[in-house]
Amino acid sequence: MEIQWYPGHMTKAKRQMQEDLKLIDLIIELLDARVPAASRNPDISALGRGKSRLFILNKADLADERVTEEWEERFREDGVPVMTVDSRNRADLRSLRPYINEACKERIERNIRRGFKNRPIRAMVAGIPNVGKSTFINTVAGRASTKTGNRPGVTKGKQWIHLGKGLDLLDTPGILWPKFEDPSVGTALALIGSISQDVLNRDELAVALIGFLVSQYPGTLEEHYGAEEGRTAAGLLASIAKARGCLTKGGELDDSKAADLLLDDFRNGRLGRISLERPGASMIGGGR
Ligand code: GDP
Repeated sequence: MEIQWYPGHMTKAKRQMQEDLKLIDLIIELLDARVPAASRNPDISALGRGKSRLFILNKADLADERVTEEWEERFREDGVPVMTVDSRNRADLRSLRPYINEACKERIERNIRRGFKNRPIRAMVAGIPNVGKSTFINTVAGRASTKTGNRPGVTKGKQWIHLGKGLDLLDTPGILWPKFEDPSVGTALALIGSISQDVLNRDELAVALIGFLVSQYPGTLEEHYGAEEGRTAAGLLASIAKARGCLTKGGELDDSKAADLLLDDFRNGRLGRISLERPGASMIGGGR
């Protein structure tokens, strides 16, 4: 699948992030729990060298719980702290602090050794577009917190959210772009709606999703659309069009409308909790 890209935006966002990284101790990197590998940006490891890291598997409410557990296990094996949340839910973020303490353990101990017991941990949120960065910040900041600009002249215009107990959060998230070298990454990101649908062929995307659902989540299409899964993906798309009355003006079955409907149902969790990647294996094909 061909994907158009915007190097200008990428360069600007990367430069901005490099500047912001100078101000912080901890990068809180948001991943989409449905595609934790595809939504991870390898650049950030180089950009954030020497910084503490905490991973958030966000939108966990939309992902397959068993697969999310496998991912948590994988992160733990790699010695990386990871927290699984629905960022819209304040209760899910109540236990953020212990994860931050774990991620910044060495830094906190070093500060204490050096006599900087009250030095706050400064954190920034980073992740690909639409992964939930603003939602996360708003939910975390929703609790009693004050926003202030930083010292004038030093970091002009930066806003910090003081979360109390020695934790400051930069209120502008770092935007990262995923890598598209592997076409299955592009497909996975388009399926979750992270890439604008305009640049992708939605019929192809729907066909990829159908193939995936039939093999990994059998029964889903039958349950939601009454579509018999023995058919080809194109045949199944036609069944969905029929079941949902997706017709062209001339009264023909409209596959594109059915594709939109299916993708929308998937993105909004109406097909159930579905993960597109397991540790060590992308489950979604490269576009068809
Ligand atoms: P940003 O571009 O990374 O700042 O993403 P936003 O915070 O604007 O979120 C993008 C969309 O995802 C919004 O419609 C949010 O309501 C939704 N969203 C964010 N976090 C979650 C989550 O944990 N679960 C679900 N289901 N939706 C979420």
